[in-house]
Amino acid sequence: MNARDSEIMAQFLRQAGHKECSSAAEADIILINTCSIRAKAEHKLISLLGALRPLKKEKPDIIIAVAGCVAQQYGAALREKMPIIDLIVGTQRIYQIAELLAAARRKPGLIAGTLDKSYQIPIFLPDAATRRRSGSVSRFVTIMQGCDNFCAYCVVPYTRGREVSRQLSDILEEVQALLDQGVAEITLLGQNVNSYGLTNSAGGRLCRFPELLRAVAALPGLRRLRFTTSHPKDLSDDLMRCFAELPNLCPHVHLPLQSGSDAVLKRMNRRYDRQDYLALVERLLQYRPDMALSTDIIVGFPGEDEADFAATMDMLERLRFDASFSFKYSDRPGTASANFPDKIDERIKGERLQVFQRRQDQISLERNRAYIGKRLEILLEQVDAVSCSGRTPSNHLTHINHLSARDIKPGDFVTVVITDAGQHALRGELAS
Ligand code: SF4
Repeated sequence: MNARDSEIMAQFLRQAGHKECSSAAEADIILINTCSIRAKAEHKLISLLGALRPLKKEKPDIIIAVAGCVAQQYGAALREKMPIIDLIVGTQRIYQIAELLAAARRKPGLIAGTLDKSYQIPIFLPDAATRRRSGSVSRFVTIMQGCDNFCAYCVVPYTRGREVSRQLSDILEEVQALLDQGVAEITLLGQNVNSYGLTNSAGGRLCRFPELLRAVAALPGLRRLRFTTSHPKDLSDDLMRCFAELPNLCPHVHLPLQSGSDAVLKRMNRRYDRQDYLALVERLLQYRPDMALSTDIIVGFPGEDEADFAATMDMLERLRFDASFSFKYSDRPGTASANFPDKIDERIKGERLQVFQRRQDQISLERNRAYIGKRLEILLEQVDAVSCSGRTPSNHLTHINHLSARDIKPGDFVTVVITDAGQHALRGELAS
């Protein structure tokens, strides 16, 4: 979501006549887009701002702007801590970045961070410069923003605001514009895409997520369609049926589990349990037996004991995820769990994370090795003189050996025979 927001801000800045430069020393404006999902991302911002202090002293006219979730979360308090900041841009204000920067030039210290309950995601159509910069193979399209779920550990409802769905016609127009530019793969993006259409206060046509998927999938020229991220509680049977129905909907779901312990899931306010999750995966595999599954895991949530962690490891053994993003729990300000008792010692969190990640790596390797000998369709993303890489429909990164003289380029679809596999990628040769 942040990468996508940076892309949108870059386009608005170019359209207002700004140019990118290659170092902070050359810049008149430094815009930092931020994430606050974990404490580490926030610490990075503070150390970057500290490193920029001498530059601001030397060039007082330089504008330093901070956008994104940390800006939203702390607003004026961030500027009090770091007075070198000239502009704070909240998550709902990125589309006005050019006007806000012009205003900050006139009046440094501007804070544009209010979350508006009736916010509408503005129309955005990527221009040719954005296409050149971001590539024309695979692109994200925002369909909703914010979240109403209030998981106990998560800042998103506070930094991105309440859930808002984008108008169907705007989404279709943006996807069509990307297809007209030659994009082959679209990923529909949002904090919780499968609750798309459930909440929107403004007029215009909305629908439920499966209907949106069907409408996007039907646009001529779309070879691959993906979406991220999904909440298990909103993964309806109708949505799962789309995987059997829509030939261009790729067989990969990222379905955050977070913990394998029912007690922890309850304290996390996730509103599903182990059995619900196992049943969902079973059903998904009935619709698409070749479905790849990835997940998110938090270890060391407050109160997580050895039995809870063993339950997470048990889910890993049962579900054998293709891949997972796993992290140590960290308190985020304003969230419910920041006030929970029984915080887990950092050392224990670190040990649990290692145990989980080591086993996940073994499983990923075993699962990847099962592809050896198979012929898979790869959408090429990178091609150079000696090698090239792309992704399978199941989203496996695949490196391709021994390019023949054939004229291939990013955006092409090729058939590859898989010859080897590691934990994080497959390797193969072009099929003759
Ligand atoms: S569903 Fe996702 S974005 Fe929403 S509160 Fe929970 S973890 Fe955060």
